[in-house]
Amino acid sequence: MKYDSELKIAIGAVKKACSLCTTVQSSLVSDETMIKEDKSPVTVADFGVQAVICHELKKAFPNDPIVAEEDSADLQTDEGKALTKKVYEYASAVLPELIEEDIHSTIDSGDYDGGPEGRFWTLDPIDGTKGFLRGQQYAIALALIEDGEVVLGVLGCPNLNLDLEDPERGKGCIFSAIKGEGASVQLIDDDSGDKIEVSDIDHPSHAPFCESVESAHSSHSDSEQIADILGVTAEPIRIDSQCKYGVLARGDASIYLRLPTSKDYTEKIWDHAAGYIIVKEAGGQVSDVSGNDLDFSQGRTLSNNKGVVGTNGELHDLVISAVVEVLNSK
Ligand code: AMP
Ligand code: MG
Repeated sequence: MKYDSELKIAIGAVKKACSLCTTVQSSLVSDETMIKEDKSPVTVADFGVQAVICHELKKAFPNDPIVAEEDSADLQTDEGKALTKKVYEYASAVLPELIEEDIHSTIDSGDYDGGPEGRFWTLDPIDGTKGFLRGQQYAIALALIEDGEVVLGVLGCPNLNLDLEDPERGKGCIFSAIKGEGASVQLIDDDSGDKIEVSDIDHPSHAPFCESVESAHSSHSDSEQIADILGVTAEPIRIDSQCKYGVLARGDASIYLRLPTSKDYTEKIWDHAAGYIIVKEAGGQVSDVSGNDLDFSQGRTLSNNKGVVGTNGELHDLVISAVVEVLNSK
């Protein structure tokens, strides 16, 4: 199968990253650090994951450039020395072949600008940093883009239950998809996954929707009006990170709304590429708030798009018309 080896390497790298994040979250994120709003735990995990995944990608696919969120500038300062040491400690615990002196350059191998031609990877080492610090949901998001199109996506969600209704079935999910091959979910410790599909709900009043916990990332007041127009009765499911795409892809939610909170913000490709293909391959639909396809060929941002709307496909046109009605009335 095309992209088989890419998928294997990507899932292996994301599993290592999940392990790193789980260790950092349990050892460093305490009530105390949250009260002080100390961002350092998430910083260590962010840099550590980027080092681990970039190293694994460069080893397997030396010619593939990487568009990743972080760079090593903050680590290269005097204050950054201690942080670099910590990053190396956590990263080498899951990938012993890492060399401390190479940490900065490995992180900086994610400095590619993207664009319409050729193939490149895109990585959000920790998507949903607020959720990570609250001890809630976050995701490691990795995708492969070829000639402007997402062809593979892997989402590691260490705190997400396999079954929202039944915690006994296990915690920590990896969602994955290859273009044309469908989407799957597996527990982090499992070797293979099960195919997933979006819900078959065909009336919005029965459709639970999900959105950001942070109202600064997606307008909660606009989504409330949209839900009213659609007759959605269930309370919104609020989750940080691209876990929302996973929850939509496996049918726990039928609508995902990301409604612009400012005219100036442009979405980043690493915040959406993996989730986008997982939902599409599970049979769903993803577009911007006007109904246009997301355009991953424009560099590091989705500069041709505003906001994001994901659905089970069936409900897409209906949801877009409600979104357009609310956004046009402002
Ligand atoms: P979420 O957890 O879904 O709320 O999304 C987290 C992501 O939101 C982060 O990775 C940021 O890149 C992104 N973000 C930051 N500011 C904004 C904004 N004003 N609008 C939309 N997304 C944002
Ligand atoms: Mg992010």
